[in-house]
Amino acid sequence: MSAPLATRDRPLRVAVVGAGPSGFYTAAALLADRGRAVTIDLIDRLPAPYGLVRYGVAPDHQKIKEVARVFERVALDPRVRFLGNVDYGRDLRLADLEHCYDQIVFAVGGQSDRRLGVPGEDLPGSLSSTGFVAWYSCHPDFLDLPVDLGVESAAVVGIGNVAIDVARVLARDPDELATTDISDDALAALRASRVRDVHLLARRGPVQAKCSPAELKELAELSGVDLLVDPAELELDVGSAAELAEDPQAQKNLALLRQLAARGATGAPRRIHLRFLVSPVELVERDGRVGALRLERNRLEPRGDGLAARGTGTFEELPAGLVVRAVGYRSLPLPDLPFDERNGVVPNRGGRVIEPATGAPRPRLYVAGWVKRGPTGLIGSNKPDGAETAAAMLEDLPATEPAPEPGGIDARLAARGVRVVDFPGWQQLDRLEKERGAAAGRPRVKLARIAEMLAALDGG
Ligand SMILES: Cc1cc2nc3c(=O)[nH]c(=O)nc-3n(C[C@H](O)[C@H](O)[C@H](O)COP(=O)(O)OP(=O)(O)OC[C@H]3O[C@@H](n4cnc5c(N)ncnc54)[C@H](O)[C@@H]3O)c2cc1C
Repeated sequence: MSAPLATRDRPLRVAVVGAGPSGFYTAAALLADRGRAVTIDLIDRLPAPYGLVRYGVAPDHQKIKEVARVFERVALDPRVRFLGNVDYGRDLRLADLEHCYDQIVFAVGGQSDRRLGVPGEDLPGSLSSTGFVAWYSCHPDFLDLPVDLGVESAAVVGIGNVAIDVARVLARDPDELATTDISDDALAALRASRVRDVHLLARRGPVQAKCSPAELKELAELSGVDLLVDPAELELDVGSAAELAEDPQAQKNLALLRQLAARGATGAPRRIHLRFLVSPVELVERDGRVGALRLERNRLEPRGDGLAARGTGTFEELPAGLVVRAVGYRSLPLPDLPFDERNGVVPNRGGRVIEPATGAPRPRLYVAGWVKRGPTGLIGSNKPDGAETAAAMLEDLPATEPAPEPGGIDARLAARGVRVVDFPGWQQLDRLEKERGAAAGRPRVKLARIAEMLAALDGG
């Protein structure tokens, strides 16, 4: 029988792969008991922590990014280390982690996006919101994304919070974005942008729109932008009227949309058109790139416990030289772990990774956040989610087989020549970014390329 874990003689050693909100909230839950003998390595493929808080939350929503301070406190707990610039899959495999840690949590988020599955989706000018958002957020993997804003009409497919962020960034006065931490390249492209019309396309009706009233209101109040709605598309079928009666958020949205429809255009230089009950069925090519969207009108039909969109066979063509699909993020399979392709998550029960064929738990392996439950919910939703995973880990402790070589990870990374960025290293980069920003009246100017970050740490 091996010595019990989480004692002074043998602290519990945990690896959390992914230093986004769910990784931090899981770590915080494990650390909540100050006397617990646990050490946690937060491993991230990037030199910068915080996941989508840094590389997803819109640049003009700086207040929301302040949650990073909560995560910073977790990182500064003496029981925690940050191992940045370490990629699971490239620098480390599961066998390494299982050898060096007693328990391993995967909290890698959703690195990819859901596709529309229609012809023309891969034409130049057709982008995923994952890519477009990462591009304007200065994510090292997307700095060279070909974004051409030399077109007058753009379409954003979807009407969730991400779609609204994308539409807002496309339509907003670049002078307002210039005081944020948006990437310099994106800011330059937006300054030169010829986009005047942004079409937000929802496959269902206004009652089913997932966006929040606050976000709609923000769109409606953008300076230099008319938010336009066709009153005919606000007419409700019987099913939607019934849903509306039960849904205070939808009631607020609809009240605002009706006001906007009544107001109409005021002659603002840029326009956002909210469209309901339409689905793209094809991205139409013009001169080797996307030039238009072929849309099918939908009606709603009861299905399961909700209303589903059904094509009516009526089509229209919408000119659009840029199409951004914002119909959901998606996790990617992780090496050496099972994956549920249908739901785009690692199969799990309450955070315990399971073998899909048998339902048997994979000992010592856990998940948290978007890779556990799918790409839904706000930053705060990851707190109870991480707490659930941490509770499962602690409950499993008595039966957890200790790792053979606790503390062995540093030697393995060194042997592979991996340049680890620790938390003091990140703090140095953070200070530098803030200094660069202060000179320009911005919260920070991000270091873009990983090589640039490493050079800055070397004093370059
Ligand atoms: C565009 C956008 C805007 C949003 N805006 C808001 C908002 O305004 N307010 C709000 O409350 N919520 C917002 N959200 C939701 C919020 O960002 C998520 O709920 C949250 O980030 C999910 O946390 P996570 O830890 O599961 O994933 P992530 O935040 O994606 O973190 C995953 C981390 O894992 C790392 N990683 C990935 N693969 C590997 C690997 N192989 N090896 C090592 N590390 C790896 C990544 O680098 C990343 O740091 C937004 C989401 C999006 C997409």
